[in-house]
Amino acid sequence: MAILKINPVEQVLLPVNVEARVCFVSISGIKGMNDILPGDVETWQFLENKAREIFKSYGFSEIRVPVVEKTELFCRSIGETTDIVEKEMYTFEDKSGNSLTLRPEGTAPVMRSYIEHKMYAQDPVAKLYYLGPMFRYERPQKGRYRQFHQIGAEVIGIEDPRIDAQVLAMLVHFFEDAGIRDVALQVNSLGCPECRPGYRKTLVDFLEARLDSLCEDCRRRYQTNPLRVLDCKAAGCKEATVDAPSVLDHLCRGCQDHFSQVQTYLGLLGTPFSINPRMVRGLDYYTKTTFEMVTGSLGSQNAVAAGGRYDGLISDLGGPSLPGIGFAMGLERLVLMKGEERIVPSRPHLFLAGLGEEASRQAFVLMSALQRRGVHAEMDLAGKSLKAQMRRAGKLGARFVLILGEEEISRGVAQLKDMDAGSQEEVRLDGLVETLVRQFSLEG
Ligand code: ATP
Ligand code: MG
Repeated sequence: MAILKINPVEQVLLPVNVEARVCFVSISGIKGMNDILPGDVETWQFLENKAREIFKSYGFSEIRVPVVEKTELFCRSIGETTDIVEKEMYTFEDKSGNSLTLRPEGTAPVMRSYIEHKMYAQDPVAKLYYLGPMFRYERPQKGRYRQFHQIGAEVIGIEDPRIDAQVLAMLVHFFEDAGIRDVALQVNSLGCPECRPGYRKTLVDFLEARLDSLCEDCRRRYQTNPLRVLDCKAAGCKEATVDAPSVLDHLCRGCQDHFSQVQTYLGLLGTPFSINPRMVRGLDYYTKTTFEMVTGSLGSQNAVAAGGRYDGLISDLGGPSLPGIGFAMGLERLVLMKGEERIVPSRPHLFLAGLGEEASRQAFVLMSALQRRGVHAEMDLAGKSLKAQMRRAGKLGARFVLILGEEEISRGVAQLKDMDAGSQEEVRLDGLVETLVRQFSLEG
């Protein structure tokens, strides 16, 4: 039996041979920034792989951009009066006095890169996806963190409403294939620079008459960002805006037409959706079609994916006048939605148990040969007894155990134990790698 002692720092039981360092107070991670540990990471990889596979079939290529950008990029694109820019950015000065920001979202950096590399010169149409960490200084809670991860996709250079429908169909396809249920697609249109100002004015007038009922935040921002009031979670604001004028009644002909065609094409593709005229987005660059994948299972963190059209963004950032549309999904929220349905870590194909020095040496060489051929093989390197080695094989969940004893080695054989069936057979060491590789590749 292992002798245990208490580590005074962590208050956990450690085997005696694990050194407990007591001289320093241990250093913890940063609040709202999580480690993703084995056991959970398999679900992350499953979702990431699923996204890569599906996006590929719709013609998207991956783009990787830095996690830090000039602060100005986000101020100019997301908008000075948005929550993100006003209060959520991790902004700092580097040693040369430049103002830099950890990216709070991916669209602006991707557009910056598209423009900087003049990708439009080769082909104005680009379909790009990204995945990686984003940073926002928010109050950490379930589904809301300070470092979180997004998978996002963007289509640049296509104005046709069919691309809106296709992007939405792809998003819904991802959720279906990833086995994430209890989500629904909501769509809206936020108009364009032609019709939005008219709606904005109507909304400001409406809010002005109800200022007393609004929260402090909304009283401050109703002039600068009136649409945001519709999205406020405060009970007073919700109640005061129940019969607020709808953006959909104020769309110009072009926006009306675009929105109705998006709906027609979604119908043709059999993509279920509902219209939510109160949906606004927390970033200023959105125009026309906006959308969210909404769930009832994550409390107030009810949006698992969100996006929309941003027809003015590329030119606002100094690029050519090209339209764009895209979305981002929050990976932490997707993982939470997968819930109990965990992706099980893969179990070793084979555990090699050796008895004696020569057996152990041969097991080590055999294990390496198998690993090089893609077989998940493990063995004990601490010189434990056969009994302890078998226990470890069981703990790791090894499918088979190969037992190598001195006497058997001299005969050129070993015992292969099927841990599921409990049966055991003698196998020849000669050509064993080939036999096992064949067997495990058949089993997957
Ligand atoms: P919310 O209304 O929940 O604050 P948002 O409108 O700020 O979301 P977007 O900027 O549109 O979110 O980002 C797209 C997606 O990224 C969200 O739907 C969500 O899944 C995820 N996300 C955004 N902020 C966070 C966060 N702080 N922690 C975890 N996931 C987040
Ligand atoms: Mg937010």
